[in-house]
Amino acid sequence: MIVTKLLEYEHDDMLEHIEKRRPNEIYVTELTECPMKREFRRKLWFMEITKPAFIIGKLIHIGIQELLRELFPNSTIETEYEKEMEIEGKIIRGRIDAIVDDYLIEIKYTRGIRGQLPLQHHIEQLQVYGWLTGFNKGIILYVTPDGIKEYELELTYNDNNILRLLYDDCKPKYDWECSYCPYSNWCPFNIQHQGGKKK
Ligand code: SF4
Repeated sequence: MIVTKLLEYEHDDMLEHIEKRRPNEIYVTELTECPMKREFRRKLWFMEITKPAFIIGKLIHIGIQELLRELFPNSTIETEYEKEMEIEGKIIRGRIDAIVDDYLIEIKYTRGIRGQLPLQHHIEQLQVYGWLTGFNKGIILYVTPDGIKEYELELTYNDNNILRLLYDDCKPKYDWECSYCPYSNWCPFNIQHQGGKKK
């Protein structure tokens, strides 16, 4: 009963965002990942929401967002804060996990640590949120089976940084991306089928 409700909730939430999405709209997360995923997501978004890691990550987000209000009772706290900006005809849209006073907070659940924390695409994501909101301080909070860690960043991105991400057409952006991609079985650029070479 609970699982069915949970999956229905995720489905409806995602559908609402997809239906409202304008043709020139790009999510912040899409600027920092393989651009081919963006193409797949426009039609095949439902393939992403049934992954257990996605649902567990969502639950952790909700839990921490609630906890922040308990931990910082005297702070100004916003959660799931949405913001968008237009640049060269594209609308960059983001939903920030939390804002605590003058800090943007990005919560990340990861099962395994692929390299050195904080991960590059998470840094870029938070930097883009900084550009979107005008905030200049942020924290990435990692929740992993091996521990909980936080990394504070100075947010410095300007329009040039955003345009670099926007026009990066490398598929995939990172060698490990295809292994975790929900579209990997259908994607002609899957690095595992290309002898390990990016296109
Ligand atoms: S399989 Fe790899 S190249 Fe294809 S969409 Fe996924 S991450 Fe991108």
